[in-house]
Amino acid sequence: MTADVAALAYLGASILFIMALRGLSSPAMARRGNVYAIAGMVIAVATTLAEPGVLGYDMILVALVAGGGIGTVAARRIQMAAMPQLVAAFHSLVGLAAVLVAIAAFYAPDAFGIGAPGAIKVASRIEMAIGAAIGAITFSGSIVAFAKLQELVTGAPLVFPGQHWLNLLLGLALVALGVEFAATQDGSAYLVMIALAFVLGVLLIVPIGGADMPVVVSMLNSYSGWAAAGIGFTLENTALIVTGALVGSSGAILSYIMCRAMNRSFVSVILGGFGVETGTTVKAGERPAKAGSAEDAAFILKAAKTVIVIPGYGMAVAQAQHAVREMAKALAGSGARVRYAVHPVAGRMPGHMNVLLAEANVPYEEVAELEDINNDFAQTDVAFVIGANDITNPAAKTDPKSPIYGMPILDVERARTVLFVKRSLAPGYAGIDNDLFYRPNTMMLFGDAKKVVEGILQAL
Ligand code: NDP
Repeated sequence: MTADVAALAYLGASILFIMALRGLSSPAMARRGNVYAIAGMVIAVATTLAEPGVLGYDMILVALVAGGGIGTVAARRIQMAAMPQLVAAFHSLVGLAAVLVAIAAFYAPDAFGIGAPGAIKVASRIEMAIGAAIGAITFSGSIVAFAKLQELVTGAPLVFPGQHWLNLLLGLALVALGVEFAATQDGSAYLVMIALAFVLGVLLIVPIGGADMPVVVSMLNSYSGWAAAGIGFTLENTALIVTGALVGSSGAILSYIMCRAMNRSFVSVILGGFGVETGTTVKAGERPAKAGSAEDAAFILKAAKTVIVIPGYGMAVAQAQHAVREMAKALAGSGARVRYAVHPVAGRMPGHMNVLLAEANVPYEEVAELEDINNDFAQTDVAFVIGANDITNPAAKTDPKSPIYGMPILDVERARTVLFVKRSLAPGYAGIDNDLFYRPNTMMLFGDAKKVVEGILQAL
């Protein structure tokens, strides 16, 4: 393949990736977006394999089959609720790949066309240093995020005195070693820089806890993109540079949007420590809450003219979306207007609830974002909160000491009746009690989300 044809093919792939991102910005177009992304990736991989620099296909084939096989099994087996961990794990691999390529380029620069051992081009040295450092931070940071999300380690922030200073010191050391390597090609400076970057990745993520995890995953997504772009320069592969930059910038934009959704500043998120102060919140279960049965809920719902369903993480765990959709259909059949309110950080990853509702064929026009529906709760008969907790917690508005203070919430409390489906009075992800459970217009429906909704359906 000539260089011109390859450049054209990479351009085509890049355009498809941009169209994919555009598609993924709305649930209605997301599937088409995925198809564009797959097409772009097939073109990019095929073009790379046809490059004259590729000398043999045996090892590539083994890697493709092994990697593709693991990816396919992981994607098929993964539970929807565990998707954020999977994403974090995948980011770690991008980071590690960047580090390995950068190390390989250092030991065999001639194979990469960037000079000879001991005489690597200056520009390449800078790219390698940046790519390897960001890649190493992405790798170890993503592993910590994975362990926290998978609950292999506590999700609570780990903070210690002088943490920020230590991180700053490590950051400065990284820059100094990177400059040293770029200037002198000193191999030990390069390797020490990479080792410190692994340590910094861990230190950057351990203090981040609770409700900030979605931002962290998206931020690591951004890092993995920049690491890939850096390595794209080393490999002189335009598709990798463009793709890395697209991932890097879209991840950064998503992090910003999520910070806005939680009313947190990006800087305070990346500095961590969120959720350390538990404030004045009471312990769960200390006060009495009114509990009802599926029949009680069916009675209230039957009388309702307007119902808003608020799905959360528990709906994903219970896989209750299909039952919820059936219940909504039954209510709509008897004349009620049923809509769904999706909070931007409901569940455990951006778009989590949208995906589940789409899977249950809920029409997109019945699904509303927080800012479009929040004023409607005051005129709503029933707010049906299913497996959601933090995203409805009024402490976010009233308790400055609460770890979720400032996060916009769905104002479900303003509905005439609030039905809460969950198994207990236990707190949600942020680890704090929810005052709404004890309000006079709230009825708790204790049990697994799917079973409760099926019970209601039967009673309806
Ligand atoms: P929460 O974690 O606040 O609450 C979920 C509730 O679901 C729990 O209180 C739990 O109560 C209940 N639950 C769990 N399993 C079941 C089940 N099988 N049946 C019924 N109920 C169940 O979830 P929200 O969606 O309200 O809020 C999301 C939280 O997660 C926020 O704090 C957000 O910041 C954070 N987060 C969000 C991410 C994102 O990108 N969306 C990523 C990572 C974190 P019980 O145990 O009593 O049943």
